Amino acid sequence: MLTLYNTFSKTKEEFVSLNPGKVGIYSCGPTVYGFIHIGNIRAYLLSDTARRYLEYTGYEVRQIKNITDVGHLTDDDINQGDSGEDKIEKAALREKKTPEEIARFYEEYFKQVEKELNIIPAHFFPRATAHVPQMIKIIESLIEKGFAYEKNGNVFFDVTKFADYGKLSGNTLESLKVGARLEEHPDKKNPWDFALWLKAPIEHLMKWQSPWSSGYPGWHIECSAMSTEYLGNTIDIHTGGEDNIFPHHEAEIAQTECYTGKQFVRYWLHNRHLLVDGKKMSKSKGNLYTLDDIKENGFSAMDLRLLFLSSHYRSQMEFSWQALEQAHKNIQKINDFILNLEAIATNNFVFSNIFDTSIFKEKFQLAMDDDLNTPLALSNLYELISQANGEIAAEQLSSDSAKKILSLWKKMNSVFGFILQGQAEVPEEIKQLIRERQYAREGKDFQKSDDLRNIIEKKGYTVEDTKDGMKIKIAS
Ligand SMILES: [Zn+2]
Repeated sequence: MLTLYNTFSKTKEEFVSLNPGKVGIYSCGPTVYGFIHIGNIRAYLLSDTARRYLEYTGYEVRQIKNITDVGHLTDDDINQGDSGEDKIEKAALREKKTPEEIARFYEEYFKQVEKELNIIPAHFFPRATAHVPQMIKIIESLIEKGFAYEKNGNVFFDVTKFADYGKLSGNTLESLKVGARLEEHPDKKNPWDFALWLKAPIEHLMKWQSPWSSGYPGWHIECSAMSTEYLGNTIDIHTGGEDNIFPHHEAEIAQTECYTGKQFVRYWLHNRHLLVDGKKMSKSKGNLYTLDDIKENGFSAMDLRLLFLSSHYRSQMEFSWQALEQAHKNIQKINDFILNLEAIATNNFVFSNIFDTSIFKEKFQLAMDDDLNTPLALSNLYELISQANGEIAAEQLSSDSAKKILSLWKKMNSVFGFILQGQAEVPEEIKQLIRERQYAREGKDFQKSDDLRNIIEKKGYTVEDTKDGMKIKIAS
């Protein structure tokens, strides 16, 4: 039974989808006016893991991830583009002149990063700029129903009209009155009201005609427009980073529920912050890393994927190069193990004992059922590896057992989502030589075994006989 921690109820709840067998997930996507950083990646990995596990358990998932491409850029931003931005960004801004071109550039970058991390693409990535008419329609309806008001071409949501305001974040009107930081605007009735539509100053490059002014939508309304458009009035799961809880998701609830009259989201999932050097990442602190930084330091996207899965999405996580190094070693360990199993599986080793995979499968599911506990699921995998390696070392793991473990691995990895290097990179010719060498070793023909090792090494692979069995690596 899958349970998920719902930020709204602040408890773990049994997951029950609105429509049997089907799940709708809405994930707040990137703002495409800059490179996404590893903190963003952590949030996308949460929605990816949720989706993967729901699919593992047999649900048909429909996932929407929006692209926030409504930028509030001015000519100055584009022409200067050097307000503390990094070099590549400056170059991009120099080369790509229109906001649309810039947005497409960063959107491509975001999609490339997701691909390298093996994050399954959402079924649709709607762009905010393509949904302004839907936003206007919702705002018109909110004004008509008395939840929103217009002044001087600006439209605000009147928070005092929505009794449930603050239920997600705990920022109720009472507590907001005590002094949360709120955006100021002279046309607001109450300081805690939020913008649905704003009149654009003359220098704004992106603006749209509306019944109220030539302007642009407030930050929150796009998610209501796109989620209702693609997932209906009620969504099963809405994901995002914890910094989205307030004001973004609180505002999404208020405006959507007042518009539809229905419950907006059944389960709210939020990942906690990723810290670097004990601080939240930000450009101004100079502690903001992108996937490119990770790769420049000799690590791979899979090292990062494993690092993130090694910590529960609801625990605050501290990024460090040392932890990434450990993740790298663990990916290597998994990689070597699977290569070994593949070699054993293609042999014909027969032993009386059969490796029992059922307990590991059960433990994997129990971990994932418990609010997507990936660190526990991973430690279960490491346990499986060490037990199987023990049998390999004792020359007791049969080819059938290896096949059984590989089949379980395939299922588990549909959730972990690792792309292992060795699998794709060891050609069939080398695998054949490995098999022959194993036969030779089995028959205690060490001369032949050594000769085969030389042949394999001449072809660019290294063979290592360890206590955990034979390891094949691409010679570096
Ligand atoms: Zn959103």
